[in-house]
Amino acid sequence: MTENVRSQLIVILDTNPVWWGQKPSSHTKAQQKMTLTECLDSVMVFAHSHLMMNHSNKLAVIAAHSDQSVFLYPKNVPPTPDLPDSDGVAEVNDGKYELFNQVDKQIEEGVKSLIENCMNGQLYPESLIAGALTMALCYINKTEKSHEESGILSSRILVIKGSEDNTEQYMNLMNAVFTAQKQNVVIDACVLDNDSGLLQQACDITGGIYLKIPQMKGLLQYLLWVFLPDPLERPKLTLPPKVQVDYRAACFCHRNLIDVGYVCSVCLSIFCAFSPICGTCQTTFKIFGPSKGVKKKSKKPG
Ligand SMILES: [Zn+2]
Ligand SMILES: [Zn+2]
Repeated sequence: MTENVRSQLIVILDTNPVWWGQKPSSHTKAQQKMTLTECLDSVMVFAHSHLMMNHSNKLAVIAAHSDQSVFLYPKNVPPTPDLPDSDGVAEVNDGKYELFNQVDKQIEEGVKSLIENCMNGQLYPESLIAGALTMALCYINKTEKSHEESGILSSRILVIKGSEDNTEQYMNLMNAVFTAQKQNVVIDACVLDNDSGLLQQACDITGGIYLKIPQMKGLLQYLLWVFLPDPLERPKLTLPPKVQVDYRAACFCHRNLIDVGYVCSVCLSIFCAFSPICGTCQTTFKIFGPSKGVKKKSKKPG
């Protein structure tokens, strides 16, 4: 391994309260659903392991919630000095490494306040993965720039997701994915429950690993074995084979996933039904009727 390549890991954790609060569906019942607390424990151990691999490794954790995405770590809010239990130095942390202590505390507090705040808001069954990805990419751009002089910082994103895909996010998500590809940021996905066509595409495009874990209780093992090694080290390992990618696109008119559709020749928007005016760029197409026009043209040369 080259000495001055440091690895930055951004974990996007799906904290959707609807999905985490759901009773296990029939097909997941056999393998026992884990609780959000158990999942957090695994993610924290995984985060510690990443930080231990190299003392200059970097970490960030983003929560993709049902109505917002927020940074759980690092929080740039300075600690309030007048806390009731501000013994400061006297605080007992069982000899735990101070950085790990800080990571755990910020993640725990962040998730707690997210769950408390969403009690009075509206709940949606999907999470804002596209928004969280965009936040991660902005953060990566900022940190890579500010670390330019102290060696290369190679960044990757890991999405841990349980809730269902939201095809309304298709366009935003794809924009984020192509940005990641351009910035050489690998997107990995560790899927807990519902297979995600959108994340399959994201991993395939950016060269990451997509894995739907067979046993939710074994989350930590999958995280440590499959997702801890840096992409540079992965060719040396035997990792799960690539999955069949569901490459359907969502139509721009109804956000339905379609196999065959109409594409605007000007802006490349995808539609599930023919329309004489493109809904995105307003280009007007001459109407021969789509099938008739094609037939006439193909007859002439023959
Ligand atoms: Zn449509
Ligand atoms: Zn168009």
